[in-house]
Amino acid sequence: MRKQIAAANWKMNLTLPQAEQLVKELLATSYQLDENRRVVLGVPFPYLTAIGSRLDQTKYFDVAAQNCADKKSGAFTGETSVEMLKSIQVPYVIIGHSERREYFNETHAMLATKVDLALEYGLQPIFCCGEPLAIREAGTQNSFVETQLKESLFHLSAEQVQGFIIAYEPIWAIGTGKTASSNQAQEMHAHIRKVITGQYGKEVSDSVSILYGGSVKASNASELFEKPDVDGGLVGGASLVATEFSAIINALKKP
Ligand code: PEP
Repeated sequence: MRKQIAAANWKMNLTLPQAEQLVKELLATSYQLDENRRVVLGVPFPYLTAIGSRLDQTKYFDVAAQNCADKKSGAFTGETSVEMLKSIQVPYVIIGHSERREYFNETHAMLATKVDLALEYGLQPIFCCGEPLAIREAGTQNSFVETQLKESLFHLSAEQVQGFIIAYEPIWAIGTGKTASSNQAQEMHAHIRKVITGQYGKEVSDSVSILYGGSVKASNASELFEKPDVDGGLVGGASLVATEFSAIINALKKP
């Protein structure tokens, strides 16, 4: 079974005491987690160490950085390199979130470089893709997402894509309360898997976890996650509320 993942994206929210309280509340709930059902918390850079060490006592919770630089090191004030993340034992990094693409002008090529750096240092990227509303309305979402994958991932070897994590996040569903229907999510996830099969073969594509993101809540998580190609979620707003995110974790597919 490929990995089922409940990933949180806290974005630029919470003070450290609030973040610690949230983690305390999350860890007070019991979950059925194992090697193949995991939780990843995408926390702001300044909290990676504090929250990461708080999670050390749990086996299946990890932190993720929400971004990384597309340069190895040097005179890039304000940037955080993958090597720095590695040096504080951060195992995951979110790459290509639509907010980074839109507000920070991140291009396909920059994202390809970030993915390469993450893999070089042994971090697992959570690579985000997804179309804006105009593309969905024009009905060209499949080729739009395909281009995002091809341009930033398809230079990788099959070995590098084995067990990869992709988050499909339709931009029109992020933070809008407008979730894609479970059928819309399944349709796109199946398309993504087909495109990966075309490039790398079925064995590799079957190993890739494809998370859905876009207004996932406790009330819709089970319906989304039970779809065959939906391997969990990347969750923004609802991940800031312990009861909501706990229920989302518990909605992950059981083996
Ligand atoms: C996100 O930003 O990755 C996200 C999916 O946000 P939300 O769950 O709030 O729509």
